[in-house]
Amino acid sequence: MSQINITFPDGVVRTYPKGSTSLNIAKSISEGLARVIIAAKVNDKVTEVSAPINEDARLNFLKWEDREGQSTFWHSSAHLLAEALEALYPDVKFGIGPPLETGFYYDVDFGEYKLTSEEFSKIESKMLELAKKDSPFIRKEVSKADAIAYFTKKNDPYKLELLEGLNDGEISMYEQGNFIDLCKGPHIPHTGFIKAVKITALAGAYWRGDEKNKQLTRIYGITFPKKSELDAHLLILEEAKKRDHRKIGKDLELFTFSEKVGVGLPLWLPKGAALREKLVQFMQKAQMAAGYLPVITPHIGHKSLYVTSGHYEKYGADSFQPIKTPREGEEFFLKPMNCPHHCEIYKASPKSYKDLPVRYAEFGTVYRYEQAGELHGLTRVRGFTQDDAHLFVRPDQVKEEFCKVIDLVLYVFNALDFKEFTAQISLRDPSNKTKYFGTDENWELAESAIIESAKEKGLKTVVEIGEAAFYGPKLDFMVKDAIGRKWQLGTIQVDYNLPERFELEYTGSDNLKHRPVMIHRAPFGSLERFVAVLIEHCAGNFPLWLTPEQVIILPISEKYQEYSEKVLNVLKKHDIRALIDDRSEKTGKKIRDAELKKLPFMLIIGEKEQTESTITVRKQGGEDLGAMTIEGFVAYINQSIEQQLN
Ligand SMILES: [Zn+2]
Ligand SMILES: [Zn+2]
Repeated sequence: MSQINITFPDGVVRTYPKGSTSLNIAKSISEGLARVIIAAKVNDKVTEVSAPINEDARLNFLKWEDREGQSTFWHSSAHLLAEALEALYPDVKFGIGPPLETGFYYDVDFGEYKLTSEEFSKIESKMLELAKKDSPFIRKEVSKADAIAYFTKKNDPYKLELLEGLNDGEISMYEQGNFIDLCKGPHIPHTGFIKAVKITALAGAYWRGDEKNKQLTRIYGITFPKKSELDAHLLILEEAKKRDHRKIGKDLELFTFSEKVGVGLPLWLPKGAALREKLVQFMQKAQMAAGYLPVITPHIGHKSLYVTSGHYEKYGADSFQPIKTPREGEEFFLKPMNCPHHCEIYKASPKSYKDLPVRYAEFGTVYRYEQAGELHGLTRVRGFTQDDAHLFVRPDQVKEEFCKVIDLVLYVFNALDFKEFTAQISLRDPSNKTKYFGTDENWELAESAIIESAKEKGLKTVVEIGEAAFYGPKLDFMVKDAIGRKWQLGTIQVDYNLPERFELEYTGSDNLKHRPVMIHRAPFGSLERFVAVLIEHCAGNFPLWLTPEQVIILPISEKYQEYSEKVLNVLKKHDIRALIDDRSEKTGKKIRDAELKKLPFMLIIGEKEQTESTITVRKQGGEDLGAMTIEGFVAYINQSIEQQLN
């Protein structure tokens, strides 16, 4: 019998008989390992643990903890959901059932029947009952004719339609328990791995995403290998609901939407505008110190600008349609990006190598068409403002500039209390170099510059090969929020394409013309999305330096109104954002309301405070700081802010 060499992730190579499965190999290492692997990655392809390996290969065992393991687990769970549905509703027809980033869904056709959320628990119990049978997922390669015969007999029109697009020789079916599905795989070894199930939601979904087709019922679910993991997940969902930025944004009067103005176009209320203004000032100050030059560009641009930039060709038909001048018939587009405008600013005057880097910064508002169904609070909108900047640099300056941008991003994260993040570096696929724009030499220079600068700054990094845009490598920050959800914030993107398209130049020390490299960067991304993420991260308890209202003065009766106003004036003179609650409510009620409004400090004023010229300070959450002089309190606040910003 011939032998094959298996290379493990740590570089160790071992020899096994040809045709060994990942499961056999895992068993040869340890029984414990064999019990927890749910799939395997053979030469970068996810496969079932029962698939024979017939040639030398790199092997990676996948467990539940691995992203691809999870995805296989949830995909297999969609089959289990289908099996349960078929057992409960024999006439149901099946569309497709893919895994999601979190969980899975299956699109099904109940005919006339309307499923409601009251039946969720029945479906969950059925799934668990079937899971307990430890039914293996059995793969069968079938001919197209046999597959058509099977689904014709079963009367499943959607599977038959899917089969139309498949060729003989590439069709497989999977059987688990009493259910057979058309599927490429792979799956987990058997249903017994699924120990906890939750059906989470129902939605309507057109077959194949086409509104001309029938609307099917999309059933969302999530499963886990342990009950305790489901409980933890549900707890996070509950916490996420409380932190939903749409709810907090309303409670704290930060922003609103109006159908009359248009969906996806946020309206910032005075408190939200104050918060946003603070973020802008904060960034402007940091950028000024880092050598950025503010620029301002219009909200629309001539069609020819976007033809040159390539945006017209790529997005023209799918974006807001042009604005036309009444007489000349010129076409203008709402600005989808600031970059083309900034390229034209660069070209306004000749540049020499000594002028570079040039850093243009703009809080530029852009408009992008999103389908109404895709809009979500401030995270998916049709108009938003980027904290955008474009750096035009010489190739030898890429690394230094990258380091400076990383410093700026880290400064932002620190000031806003984002403590956990990783840097995701996207490089080109070295086996497919022709796909990318720009010279080999420049790519190598930029890629190593990004990797080295991330290393120098001590960032935790993940390198993704082949994930770079065609026009340049990039670095994205993936930030973990207070309840463990991941958000992408702060992208730094190298670009060789736009300088070429706009024919940007500088005169080198050799007196010849050269192309600068362009770097796009936006630490916040967009102010709208950033504020949404920030709200959900801090649950509306903004850092003191940022919060629109820092202090509320609570006189215990109107007798102390005059003294309260005196305190207010002193605070205002020191740029502390304060207000008085002069309603004739009980102090307890005023405190409760101030808590709901997430006000960081409450100053209680009564007889004692007035006579002694002091204030009694209560922090949000209940901590009592006792009596202080007004000056003492001002110093205390200023010191707290300084700590947050350094
Ligand atoms: Zn499948
Ligand atoms: Zn840009």
